[in-house]
Amino acid sequence: MSTALDELLKRSQPRSSQMLEHLMGEGVEHAELLELMGRLPRHEFVEPAFSHLAYSPTPLPIGRSQTISQPLTVAKMTLWLLTYARLGRVLEVGTGSGYQTCLLAHFFNKVHTIERQKSLYLQAQTRIRSMGFNNVEFLHGDGHLGWPQKVQMDAIIVTAMASKVPVALTDMLKEDGILIMPIADEVPSIGCWQRVGYKWKRLESTPAQFVPLLEGKVDA
Ligand code: SAH
Repeated sequence: MSTALDELLKRSQPRSSQMLEHLMGEGVEHAELLELMGRLPRHEFVEPAFSHLAYSPTPLPIGRSQTISQPLTVAKMTLWLLTYARLGRVLEVGTGSGYQTCLLAHFFNKVHTIERQKSLYLQAQTRIRSMGFNNVEFLHGDGHLGWPQKVQMDAIIVTAMASKVPVALTDMLKEDGILIMPIADEVPSIGCWQRVGYKWKRLESTPAQFVPLLEGKVDA
């Protein structure tokens, strides 16, 4: 067991068992993912006034009018990555609370994560470092612009909704890389695609609501 997981185990709560039962009931069967979600102190990632609901099947406020997705949505997105992506380098747009970032940091060699709101960026960085993850690079910036160093990603996960995929992001994805992103269509849904040359092969899709992907960064 990694030191990071050991560290998390100390802070785990019996109340996460209800969340795990719900996830398993919905068909999430990946033992390592369930174990990790069971140990991650989700109540530390949400606004304190909502910490008693942290393990419930609902999205919750994380500050700055942003929300963390419900556990099942986070689990599904992570499962898609575990199923289809090479677990090398991943880019996350929308660090938010850093909950999804922790799951990525556990499974991928290297995580790059971008958040436009300075206070959330700072808070997530402190939180994740204190949990012992040391393979995450944080950026306060606009995810529309991609990562400043033009490294190619095995996977990109966007946790805020837009009507189309920002070009800078598609440019950073390796041939046959995996993109997960919520798209504001007739039925808003989160999709999983594989890049095949200049085309996209859709692998998965499920209806979901997300906060919007916004332009620019906020220095507060
Ligand atoms: N994955 C997060 C969910 C955060 S909600 C979690 O586990 O908590 C989406 C986040 O995307 C918000 O924090 C919001 O500020 C951020 N965001 C929205 N538009 C963005 C952009 N253009 N670049 C970077 N972050 C953005």
